[in-house]
Amino acid sequence: MGSFKLGKMTLKSLFGKPETIQYPVEQKTPPPGLKGHVTNNVDACILCGICMKRCPCDAITVDKPARTWSINRFRCVQCGTCVRECPKQCLAMEPTYTPPATEKRSDVFEVPEHAKAAAAQS
Ligand code: SF4
Ligand code: SF4
Repeated sequence: MGSFKLGKMTLKSLFGKPETIQYPVEQKTPPPGLKGHVTNNVDACILCGICMKRCPCDAITVDKPARTWSINRFRCVQCGTCVRECPKQCLAMEPTYTPPATEKRSDVFEVPEHAKAAAAQS
């Protein structure tokens, strides 16, 4: 690479707009088709555990006695298998990025009792 070209590139990067943004203070608009992260409409969840069995990354835990559904977002690779396999269609891929975290933890959702009653009626 010629020194003229290199100098031009250096000046451009010194005085031009930075290519990076100050995430998470600044955020980019998610591109179309972004899988983002998994959400659960717990009102429709019947705690059947199919999503947990099908997840290839062992990211989902369904605790029937405690009535909780949890996801370890550090394990999830956004493959979408759980969304496709859920018999109640209560899982979805939210097209937004997962917020940054300072420690590895799971997001735990409590499944209300009325969801159980609704499932028995259907
Ligand atoms: S999210 Fe769907 S597949 Fe997973 S436990 Fe609830 S109903 Fe079953
Ligand atoms: S999207 Fe894939 S990896 Fe993530 S929780 Fe669902 S099945 Fe597991």
